[in-house]
This record gives sequence, structure tokens and C-alpha cells, in this order.
Amino acid sequence: MAFTIKKPPPWLVHAIDRLAELPIHARWFARQAWKPLAPWFSRSRWQALGPWRAPLLGFVLLAFGIGLGLGVGAMVGKRKPTPPPSETAALPSPPAQPARQPIPTVRNAPPIPPLALPNTRGAQSAVAPESGPYVGTPIPDAVINAPKPVPGGQMAAWLRNAVPFADPGKKPMVAVVMDDLGLDRKRTYRTLTLKGPLTLAFLAYSGELAAQTAAGRARGHELIIHVPMEPLGPYTDPGPDVLLAGMSPDDIRTRLRRALDRFPGYVGINNHMGSKFTADRSGMAVVLTELKARGLLFLDSKTTGGSVAAEIAREIGLPFAERNVFLDNEPSLAAVEIQLYKLEEYARQYGHAIAIGHPHDATLDALEAWLPTLEKSGLALVPLSAIVKRHANGNGNGATSAAKASARP
Ligand SMILES: [Zn+2]
Repeated sequence: MAFTIKKPPPWLVHAIDRLAELPIHARWFARQAWKPLAPWFSRSRWQALGPWRAPLLGFVLLAFGIGLGLGVGAMVGKRKPTPPPSETAALPSPPAQPARQPIPTVRNAPPIPPLALPNTRGAQSAVAPESGPYVGTPIPDAVINAPKPVPGGQMAAWLRNAVPFADPGKKPMVAVVMDDLGLDRKRTYRTLTLKGPLTLAFLAYSGELAAQTAAGRARGHELIIHVPMEPLGPYTDPGPDVLLAGMSPDDIRTRLRRALDRFPGYVGINNHMGSKFTADRSGMAVVLTELKARGLLFLDSKTTGGSVAAEIAREIGLPFAERNVFLDNEPSLAAVEIQLYKLEEYARQYGHAIAIGHPHDATLDALEAWLPTLEKSGLALVPLSAIVKRHANGNGNGATSAAKASARP
């Protein structure tokens, strides 16, 4: 690889990685220790208290403080005599405290249009049928522009369709991309209700795309197309119209264009699977050149360390980014929480981080709890395009630094 930065020896990287993960595992063990106590102090019960949480916590602490004070006082057995009322009244009053500044809250966000959702909580079926009535609020397509080949001088489609977002300055940026959307209608709609802006990757071959993607965009999420590409394993089915290594350039272009014509308003594509195809130079060159011509960006899901996407993107000047963390290779709540913690650490270290998750219940549960905490943690949740933009300003071609990636076949 022509552009790799000189790396320390693998054993050292491995040792540092393990050390860096210690706090993550400590936090995870603390969570395990908490579990037997959880039935008495369940999070949902606590959260159900809503605005009463702060006063209640204050009251408990106050009661604890008073109890402690009384206990200590009783043990010491000495009570300080209270001054007579006249003496108290004679004391000069302390200077007036400045009025407490109200804590700034985010209230200037535009109201989110209501979305009629199916009841997703009791959902049992893993994959809902693609047909059936559309339950979301239909959004007129007028708000969205379809990317077309860009004539010279016109703003590129990925910039035109990017969710407007001010650069958060020095705050580390976090983008959460949700892959495989579209097939499972219930979980797709649950994903749309999460606090955004998320980046929604809709499977090119699923049905109902126009309605789902419009609803997602109307709720402030960014859109990309999740294009099936050939994986290495023979037992995984990437779906119809998959891009195969060894296909003719014309066939690749035909299949890719079919995917790109499915719905409007997206900023680019990322690969569904593709551990074989993204390592194939000639195939990837066809795909990325087509994206470049249409003014789109490419997000490498990094399903293989052998991907050539970054290299080609750099050569042709394609806006490009790479996934840093997979959230749910192990789709359990604890595992997803550990990955979210890794994502935060990564963003603090490098200034930005991109996660890819999937619409599993565990992932959605974890995100629902985690997304509202980001602002407090000093991180900015951004659409994918915001991270690509920052890098496009930095080095001219939008490529994010190659990240250590836990590849998935
Ligand atoms: Zn996928």
C-alpha cells in the first residue's frame, strides 16, 4: 500500500490496544456487579421519574447528609448552642448572590414531524414482509433532490443532500451509520425515531424505499445507499444485484446504477458485506469512478483489511470515509455498550469516529439510552458528511485517516 503511515511493530500495537481497553472492561465489570441490584433500582423505573429525578436525588442526598450529621452529632454528644434570635437578626446579611444562570438547553432545534409508528416493542418477526400498508407520514419528495451526474461548476450531490450541520469546532465528532435498513420495517421505523442526526444506510434491494427514506430525511437523518458487494465466505447471501469481483465493468455499472436510482436525496453509498469485492481493484475503480462522476461520497464499511477503496479514492479525489467501530458484531446490550464506549474513546483520540450498527433490538436499545448522553460527554453527534467535509477541507480529497479496524468478513 503506497500511502500507509509508518506503523509501530504489531506486538506493540496489540499491547497498547489491550491496555487501552482496560477501562472499557472495568466499566463492563462494574455493570455486571450492578446487575443483581438492578431489580431494586431499575434504570427504566429511574427514567420514568423524568423531571423528578434531580429533586429526588437531591432529597436523598440531603436526607443522607442530615442523617449522617445527626449520627455524628449524637456520637460526639455535644450540641453547639444556637445563638439567640436577636443575635441572629443583628448579623449583617451576606452579599446577595448573583442570580443563578439557567442551564443552557437545546431548545432551538426544529420540531420533529410526528411519525405514526407501528408498535415495535413487541415485535417478534426478524424480517417483516416488504409489502403491506405504509404506516409512516408521507413526505413530499420536493424537499429532496435526486443526485444526477454533476456538470462542471454545480455543487456536488453529496454536499447538496448533506444534512445541514455547523462544524462543531474542537468537539470530537461522532457519526452513527445504521446499515441494512429497509427490509425489517418495524425496526427501520424504530431507527428513524432515534435522536439524530444519524446516517441511514438503506439496502438497495428492499421495498418501500421512497416512503422510508423520505421519512428518515424529514426527521433530520442523512441518507446513504447500502450496496451489496461480494463477500469472501460462500455461505453468506449478499442479496440480489450484488457487485461481484470479476464482473465486466458494464455489468458493474448497470447494477450500481440500478441501486443509485432507487431513491433520491442521498449523499453516497457504503458497502453491504463486500470483503471480496472491496479488495478487487478493477471492480472498485469502476464503482468509485461512477460515484465521483455523480458527485457522491463513499463510506468504506471496512469488512476487510484488504480494501482498496481508500487508495483509489485518494487517487481520483473522491470524498471518502472509513468505518472505525462496528457496534454489534455481538448483538447483546453489554457488547454494544462496550463498543459505544470504544467509539467515544476513539473520537476523543482522533477528533472524529464513525460507527456502523444494525437494526437489532440490542443496538437500538443501547443507542436509545446512549445518544442523549453524547452532548453531556462533550461529543458532537454529526451526519457522516460532516466528518467527510472536515477532511475535505484538511487534505483536499476527503479521505479520513486509515483507522485500525476490526474487520468482519
Ligand atoms: Zn450490511
